[in-house]
Amino acid sequence: MTETTTATAAATEAGEARPVIVTVDDDPGVSRAVARDLRRRYGGNNRIVRAESGQDALDALRQMKLRGDQVAVILADYRMPGMNGIEFLERAMDVYPFAKRVLLTAYADTNAAIDAINIVDLDYYLLKPWDPPEEKLYPPVDELLGAWRRDDRKPVRVAKVVGHRWSGPSTQLRDFLARNQVPYRWYSSDEPEGQRLLDAAGADGHDLPVLITVDGEALVAPGSAEVAAKVGLATTPERDFYDLVVVGGGPGGLGAAVYGASEGLRTLLVEKFATGGQAGQSSRIENYLGFPDGLSGNQLTDRARRQAVKFGAELLTTREVTGLEINGPARTVRLNDGSAVDAKAVILATGVTYRQLSAPGCDRMQNAGVFYGAALTEAEDCKDQDVYVVGGANSAGQAAVYLARFARSVTMVVRAGSLEQSMSYYLIQQIAGIGNISVLTCTEVAEVLGDDHLEQLALRDLNTGKTETVDAGELFIFIGAAPRTGWLEGVVARDERGFVLAGLDLSGNHLAEWPLDRPPFHLETNVPGVFAVGDVRAESAKRVASAVGEGAMAVMFVHRYLEQQ
Ligand SMILES: Cc1cc2nc3c(=O)[nH]c(=O)nc-3n(C[C@H](O)[C@H](O)[C@H](O)COP(=O)(O)OP(=O)(O)OC[C@H]3O[C@@H](n4cnc5c(N)ncnc54)[C@H](O)[C@@H]3O)c2cc1C
Repeated sequence: MTETTTATAAATEAGEARPVIVTVDDDPGVSRAVARDLRRRYGGNNRIVRAESGQDALDALRQMKLRGDQVAVILADYRMPGMNGIEFLERAMDVYPFAKRVLLTAYADTNAAIDAINIVDLDYYLLKPWDPPEEKLYPPVDELLGAWRRDDRKPVRVAKVVGHRWSGPSTQLRDFLARNQVPYRWYSSDEPEGQRLLDAAGADGHDLPVLITVDGEALVAPGSAEVAAKVGLATTPERDFYDLVVVGGGPGGLGAAVYGASEGLRTLLVEKFATGGQAGQSSRIENYLGFPDGLSGNQLTDRARRQAVKFGAELLTTREVTGLEINGPARTVRLNDGSAVDAKAVILATGVTYRQLSAPGCDRMQNAGVFYGAALTEAEDCKDQDVYVVGGANSAGQAAVYLARFARSVTMVVRAGSLEQSMSYYLIQQIAGIGNISVLTCTEVAEVLGDDHLEQLALRDLNTGKTETVDAGELFIFIGAAPRTGWLEGVVARDERGFVLAGLDLSGNHLAEWPLDRPPFHLETNVPGVFAVGDVRAESAKRVASAVGEGAMAVMFVHRYLEQQ
């Protein structure tokens, strides 16, 4: 790479970590001379970008902003046609407010330069000619670079999300990135830096969120498949045929993928949203073997993902499985983009999804103060708020404990008469010991109130029937879950609630068309070679450890099934 870059080249180059010094002068000879002198002294540690008009320089600054480049110093000539140096520096300030600003002036323009100190908060003005640079150019630039470094307000080279707290799609994108372990920085559209990024992206802020990738590409209100592709998550299978396709990327599916791939099966895992499943949303799993101090769902997911990939499993995200067909020995798995893959065996690990709260107003406020299960990404927004958690099971208890670290108060709203009926003893003890958590038993949410976001809740006392309205910052709902297995209709046997039947839970009726001499293996469904593990399986334990264990065990039965083919 050349040490000096013109504005256009700066815009197209892949971003890099060296802080940039920008110089703009409409006289090509002067522009080259300034850049040459700057390069001579600073070219090793800085990138020098030169432009020959204010507009070109602004375009380059905007693109550098999107890419997350650091701009340390901007030098602009005062007398330029179209946009003079002061006007340019004023606009450059909107993009890089913390870059140091220098105006290059002729002696005759000294007064203009002095005025500019107030207008654009000028850091220095430099008289032309600046020879010898050792005396006139380098000392002030050294000082400005030092001051800029000390400021420590440098942008970071990660993806950026500009959105709004009450915009549902913004919350969804944050959740998606967090649960897929994609690092990003959040900017609110109503804060100055968020506005600067929107301007640089040419977005008006009506359609949110705007995702700015590490390469500086701005995507306005992108869908999750588009986001997945841009942040490097695989969305299409590499082959047409696999030994094993695992449907669902929660603990059960990840367990199956790790064991399948490590034991030599060509394994594809298909996940419709983000790997980790329900466990990925847990703030602290305390009862998983080998982690006496607990670990977060994110940590568990990250490790499991890396482990599966290390053994050669292929992981697809944002691909939903919409159908399963039996074509002789092949099990054909249909994906929501219309494509299909064939496998010798399939493991169903699709878990369960939260039930929706039916109180009026709840749907309208979803992701605008009302959240299902997702306590992690919103936790920081709960600072100094009064938040409510609906539900009395372990997941609700864990969320309350976690949110209490951020919120002013956490109130658990529970329909039952006590937590003892549904929550583990250790959690009840923890909750009792946390001062800012209170529990309202025999209570339900009667209505969710607010204009464009949650403001109040109407709570009904189930003993008296009386309703009380309270101010509420956020509402988190954990009221049980159901399997989403409609797509298996007519192929795989399920119980009346939709849970998949397997092994000894299959009755004679389900096995009327069973084609083999042997009975189904444990975890095998009424279709040979199709297994069910984890929460989606009828009569399962609904625990992380049991889902992982069943994933591993199902792989053993896949081997036995394949041996008999
Ligand atoms: C907040 C919370 C805290 C919890 N804490 C604990 C705890 O401390 N200890 C404990 O033991 N258990 C805990 N649990 C329960 C535990 O997380 C579950 O038992 C476990 O995650 C079940 O794993 P699974 O793989 O069977 O299903 P899930 O975790 O539900 O994962 C299923 C995955 O399949 C995907 N999927 C669904 N349908 C499709 C489709 N058609 N195509 C592609 N993908 C699909 C989903 O998006 C999901 O990612 C907690 C649950 C929650 C919600």
